[in-house]
Amino acid sequence: MFSHITKISPPIHFRYTSKRGWLLSLFRVEWQAMKKCSFCAEQIQDEAIKCRFCGEFLDGSGKQKPAAKWYYSTSSVVIGLLCVGPFALPLVWLNPKYKTAAKIIITIIVIAATIWLYRLMTQMYQQIIKQIHDLG
Ligand SMILES: [Zn+2]
Repeated sequence: MFSHITKISPPIHFRYTSKRGWLLSLFRVEWQAMKKCSFCAEQIQDEAIKCRFCGEFLDGSGKQKPAAKWYYSTSSVVIGLLCVGPFALPLVWLNPKYKTAAKIIITIIVIAATIWLYRLMTQMYQQIIKQIHDLG
């Protein structure tokens, strides 16, 4: 990023990072690299990702990415699938994070798990009915 340096300011910058390293830090000289904001031309720190003058992001995108919706986060999808099973599948299919192959695999797993759980429940129900009959 040294190609971006247009001015070294301030030239000497003391660091007081920790109490233990205070004395050592006194003698540690750090160069504060500066660069020019490509949006407003103000001098900002070379490591800055957001301009403090105009608020633009300097990562090349220019605009702040919209925050990912909470119901698209993997944990929300997992909780949804555990609670409502196949009814949470639209969350998977509308989710921009997953690829089509992943969506198909998740769908197959969820449907298989639902069928398996349904059969398990039916078997348990039949066993309970049978036990009640045996008691009576
Ligand atoms: Zn700026």
